Amino acid sequence: MGRGGANRPADVGAVKQRLRELGFAWLDEAATMDEATIVAIRLFQAIKNGLQRVEHPQNDGRIDPGGSTHRWLEALNAPRWQVMPRGGREAGFLNFELLDEADQHDYGTSWMAETIIAAGAAYRDAYLAVHPQAALLGTNDVSLPRGGNTPDHSTHETGLDCDCRLPRTDGTSGGISWNRPGTNQRHPLYDREAARAMLRALQQQPLWRRTLFNDPVLIAEGLCRAAPGHDDHIHFEIRPPAPVFG
Ligand SMILES: [Zn+2]
Repeated sequence: MGRGGANRPADVGAVKQRLRELGFAWLDEAATMDEATIVAIRLFQAIKNGLQRVEHPQNDGRIDPGGSTHRWLEALNAPRWQVMPRGGREAGFLNFELLDEADQHDYGTSWMAETIIAAGAAYRDAYLAVHPQAALLGTNDVSLPRGGNTPDHSTHETGLDCDCRLPRTDGTSGGISWNRPGTNQRHPLYDREAARAMLRALQQQPLWRRTLFNDPVLIAEGLCRAAPGHDDHIHFEIRPPAPVFG
């Protein structure tokens, strides 16, 4: 079913209901296939395929009986689409994107939400416990309310990418660059010790895939890799878990 499928009403109704349960709540209750449902199926496929963008031949909008998309819809750990967690000092992280009401990149997968919560706890226990004045792990953009293309990022379409603010030695965080423009001098407020602890906490997470950030010291330590546009924030990505069936 889906794009080019037979789309029997009973099948369509069941899939739409399951997608609504998983947080794709904008789908209606009619047992008819429509473009919004195909778009949601493609987003779901991009997530279970571990892709940062929806536009990809693997995300074909079609569900075959017993195929990968069908199985993932039935998995106990199927990805849910949800608002990202808020955090706070006790959590070790703080969601600055939720505080910014002018920007809507507040949504992502349950897999990302769980990763952020676990990374915040790891950073709190490993670093904040002994450096209580240090910055919290400051999460920022994930994805738009219904995922998909966003003009602000080349990826960030599928709730599998998250940006983080750079920690400062004054205990705040922000969009500072580790590097003063045009020089190789470290930014005077950039807190590399805290950033190192944050990257370690991210890298420890079971779904962590990679971190992009242009600090050459932390790159040399194997904690991140260089990418254009990643001087002033940390970008990390997660991968899908193996599906679990009841
Ligand atoms: Zn990013």
